[in-house]
Amino acid sequence: MTDLLRVDGIEAAYGKVTALKDVSIAIRPGEIVAILGANGAGKTTLLNAISGVLPVTAGEIRFDGAPINGRKPWQTSRLGISHVPEGREIFPDMTVEANLNIVDSNGGGPAFTVPDILEMFPRLQERISQLAGGLSGGEQQMLAIGRGLMARPRLILFDEPSLGLSPVLTKFVLSSIAGLRAKGIATLLVEQNMRAALRIADRAYVLRVGRIVRAGTAAEIANSPDIQEAYLGV
Ligand code: ATP
Repeated sequence: MTDLLRVDGIEAAYGKVTALKDVSIAIRPGEIVAILGANGAGKTTLLNAISGVLPVTAGEIRFDGAPINGRKPWQTSRLGISHVPEGREIFPDMTVEANLNIVDSNGGGPAFTVPDILEMFPRLQERISQLAGGLSGGEQQMLAIGRGLMARPRLILFDEPSLGLSPVLTKFVLSSIAGLRAKGIATLLVEQNMRAALRIADRAYVLRVGRIVRAGTAAEIANSPDIQEAYLGV
């Protein structure tokens, strides 16, 4: 199967600080690919570069065969790239239902309705008329994922979905993400929780100070004894 996303030799910078250097990754439809790395390795920057939040200064990003360098986030969203950022970015003063309904569903991937999202996350059903700002951290994460899916992505970018969640909720949220494989949606999963991410990922890349230093199947990365110490700072 051909790649859905190809990132070739990209660079990105914040002023004079280079955050990504010669980064290349690829992902096929239905694959779950983890991006691992310590704090500050460039994981968030990579997702921002793909979704168009941050322009790249070199290299090329191709989605479904076409270059998407320079596209704005609303344009990549319409092409079928849904970005669920760290910090979740839900609308706190709107109800759960309104947060789901306001999403522009133009991604061209599998369709999700509000009832589909509530079936996936029954906790949200109980909170449907409440303001999103009053939800717990785990519920906000579920809502953010639901919003990401309502956009009908073909590729979904998750930034630290387990951040701040209990082990039980982390397991639940990551297994919900794993379920997207059956729909043919490709998932790029940024996680500091390496073990949890590798449990659901097919492949992984390891970033270190802006460069890809390792790549392999989830099993290869999980079984490589030096990785945690060398690259993840744990
Ligand atoms: P974390 O898990 O801490 O978010 P990360 O792997 O996602 O880490 P990035 O947030 O992508 O890392 O940061 C990569 C590098 O870019 C770091 O050196 C960071 O300090 C720097 N950086 C990130 N955002 C900015 C910014 N807005 N301005 C300047 N430098 C930044």
